[in-house]
Amino acid sequence: MENDEFDIVVIGAGVIGLSLAFRLKRVRQDLKIAVLGDPMNSLMASRAAAGMLAPFGECDRADRFFGFCRESLEKYPGFIAELAGVSDVPVFFSMQGSLMPSAFYGDGWEDQKLFFGQEKIPHEVWTPAKVKEKAPYLSQDCGEVLWVGEGQVNNRQLHDSLSLAMRALGVTVFEKNVTGFIRDESGLESAVTDSGDIKGKKFVLASGSWSGQLGEILGVSLPMKPIKGQMCRVQVVDDLLEYTVHGQLTYIAPWRGGHGFVIGSTMEDRGFDPSVEETVIQSLIDRAAAILPCLKEAPLIESWTGLRPAAEDLMPIMGKSVRYRNLYYSTGHYRNGILQTPNQADYVTGIILETLKEEVAEFSPSRYQL
Ligand SMILES: Cc1cc2nc3c(=O)[nH]c(=O)nc-3n(C[C@H](O)[C@H](O)[C@H](O)COP(=O)(O)OP(=O)(O)OC[C@H]3O[C@@H](n4cnc5c(N)ncnc54)[C@H](O)[C@@H]3O)c2cc1C
Repeated sequence: MENDEFDIVVIGAGVIGLSLAFRLKRVRQDLKIAVLGDPMNSLMASRAAAGMLAPFGECDRADRFFGFCRESLEKYPGFIAELAGVSDVPVFFSMQGSLMPSAFYGDGWEDQKLFFGQEKIPHEVWTPAKVKEKAPYLSQDCGEVLWVGEGQVNNRQLHDSLSLAMRALGVTVFEKNVTGFIRDESGLESAVTDSGDIKGKKFVLASGSWSGQLGEILGVSLPMKPIKGQMCRVQVVDDLLEYTVHGQLTYIAPWRGGHGFVIGSTMEDRGFDPSVEETVIQSLIDRAAAILPCLKEAPLIESWTGLRPAAEDLMPIMGKSVRYRNLYYSTGHYRNGILQTPNQADYVTGIILETLKEEVAEFSPSRYQL
């Protein structure tokens, strides 16, 4: 292993690292690329997420971040089709849309409606009669419901598919954690793992919530922390709901294909705490069942915890290091890294290969002198 030198070493095997390796290889087949990291890390965000592709429900102003997320949603159908051409792992993906019931959304419902109108976001207001026709299993207490043209993906299938696809393209995977670096003041030479050193010309830090720890080893201070989310999945037949539903402090995401519905989620600032609390899960189910009553009796399949990688300003950190000549970042995708996956892969590929026309200042590592 010591004698091999890779053109690009990506550190992190979540959707961010894998999609980046996939895109780099699609654009430049000749590049020798390695991905490092445990793809089944039990707290990683990519397998913990609900898979909502929700740029509209998650944003309330049309800033650069909103634009980036919207572009990413637009790229999704092509991205999924492209993946399917390389990997035979089926990925559930739907553009059926999301629902926001006025009675359960909280104070922001009218503002969201206004925002959707201003930004020409595809949306409709459904009367209770229309709700009964289009989503008959929703509670009659939902009132008027806002439908918005968003998407849904099964993120575990997406992660599996990316993993297979980039291997099929020739990316080398080391399922090992990085414990150190061989470097000098201005550049990195190798990433150190307990199976040996991986030499590279360029390195990308894409290690989600663990990026801060790797930053420390590199002597840079990433202002990042994990934001814990507890979630669960219940068994419900596919036909009961084809939309994703956003309520106040709750959401319901259909994974279909017999995989039930995901119910989320908490937002907890508790470090790397892996615990799953029964009372918390029950309260998630109760809140979701107020919107979709059949969830109350649905068998619980599993519950889990995952960590969202959050930068201090809640913006992603994507771009070239100002400290090391051959280090790049793609981390801090926080609450919507699954949504950002296709655009992130294009954007960071463009920066690494120096083909991107314009970088987004708000995402730049330079804002933290990284
Ligand atoms: C509960 C929850 C619900 C969410 N729901 C949604 C949603 O509905 N829609 C959406 O768009 N987003 C959602 N997100 C956010 C999304 O999941 C994340 O933004 C995204 O998955 C981040 O991906 P990542 O690859 O950066 O990080 P991760 O998936 O956390 O992966 C990090 C990788 O780095 C590796 N690593 C760690 N340390 C090292 C090391 N020392 N050396 C090498 N590798 C290392 C890990 O093993 C892992 O492979 C949710 C997140 C959570 C937690």
